[in-house]
Amino acid sequence: MKALHLKAGRERSVLRRHPWIFSGAVERVDGAPEPGETLLVKNAGGQPVAVAAWSAASQIRARIWSFDPKTRVEAPFFAAAVARAVKAREALPAARHTNALRLVHGESDGLPGVIVDRYADVLVAQFLSAGAERWREAILDALAEATGCEAIYERSDAEVRALEGLQPRTGFVRGNHEARRCPIVEHGLNFRVDVEAGQKTGFFLDQRDNRQRIRALAAGREVLDGFCYTGGFALSALAGGARRVLALDSSGPALEVARENLAANALEASRIAFEQADVFAQQRKLRDAGAKFDLVILDPPKFAPTAAQAKNAARAYKDINLLAFKLLAPGGLLATFSCSGGMSAELFQSIVAGAAADAGADGRVIERFHGGADHPVALSFPEGEYLKGLLVST
Ligand code: SAH
Repeated sequence: MKALHLKAGRERSVLRRHPWIFSGAVERVDGAPEPGETLLVKNAGGQPVAVAAWSAASQIRARIWSFDPKTRVEAPFFAAAVARAVKAREALPAARHTNALRLVHGESDGLPGVIVDRYADVLVAQFLSAGAERWREAILDALAEATGCEAIYERSDAEVRALEGLQPRTGFVRGNHEARRCPIVEHGLNFRVDVEAGQKTGFFLDQRDNRQRIRALAAGREVLDGFCYTGGFALSALAGGARRVLALDSSGPALEVARENLAANALEASRIAFEQADVFAQQRKLRDAGAKFDLVILDPPKFAPTAAQAKNAARAYKDINLLAFKLLAPGGLLATFSCSGGMSAELFQSIVAGAAADAGADGRVIERFHGGADHPVALSFPEGEYLKGLLVST
């Protein structure tokens, strides 16, 4: 096995079990390893400390498979890692309330670059790093074995693949499955997941618990769901007894699925309106028209994928939250989220605080939101905690 030699003093993150080795920590590598090739990671003293997948194209030059340098990174390694991740999900309370769960959450499940979501009997897999790509077949076999699912759809079309020098790839890779809109059930609500053309893997499973929270808070309220996608929060609010729900999204295809989702549930359709609109513009229109809501939900796309984009993103977050405060009736609630990996929870809260101040509103944080337990955050990998949210009462 070729070796990756760390610079002196740069093994500290490896000893803390952080899975990434940045370019600046690499003294040299033996020869010219292929993308995804397994390397033995050695400290400056020549001691092996880990085994990792090489990625020359990426600033994250290597991702660690194991902190035991004797680990054999071969098919059985992936079978064991996938089986462990799947078993951990089976034990979660959420597994009793839904047939849609994240089964593999990348680095935090010991499988850097591998994301797998289960939608009933269909799996959707993303291979987002050179190492994941190299072991794709072994991982697919392990997934089929651990879950019994015959159909696996690949959605390796996330932009981050380009940073690893990988081309996008999509399509069914196991099973000859025609059903591209998978019906799933979440806490008694029916949703259709478009695994082929939906955003990300098709559904935002990370918001499951938070949708339940909104459902519990919605009774009797006039609700605005700003970025509704296929109706996750909007339908949860309706199911929770909202008086009326206005659900906005800029995506026509997402709204088409949202309307199908409405029809797939025994809910009162006259109490909800889906509108195709830009939230920034529509919130201004609503404000100018004097509209008021008792509960506003803002779950925008990630405005700041990396820390470098956090500044521009801050303006966008402030804008929508400021307008939300203006739209809240006295005693109203704001459930506001950021799924930007590049934005810390502290920064997000300070932006929301600034938005409230500029709107002349008093707000109190009464709850904090996170991803669900099927989106674990490894203690050694705080970067894995991308989703944060605040419930603010006014
Ligand atoms: N809350 C949803 C997920 C929201 S994903 C759920 O639980 O399922 C973010 C959504 O914002 C996407 O559907 C995207 O189409 C939409 N979007 C992005 N920019 C927008 C804009 N400027 N105005 C309205 N919607 C936007």
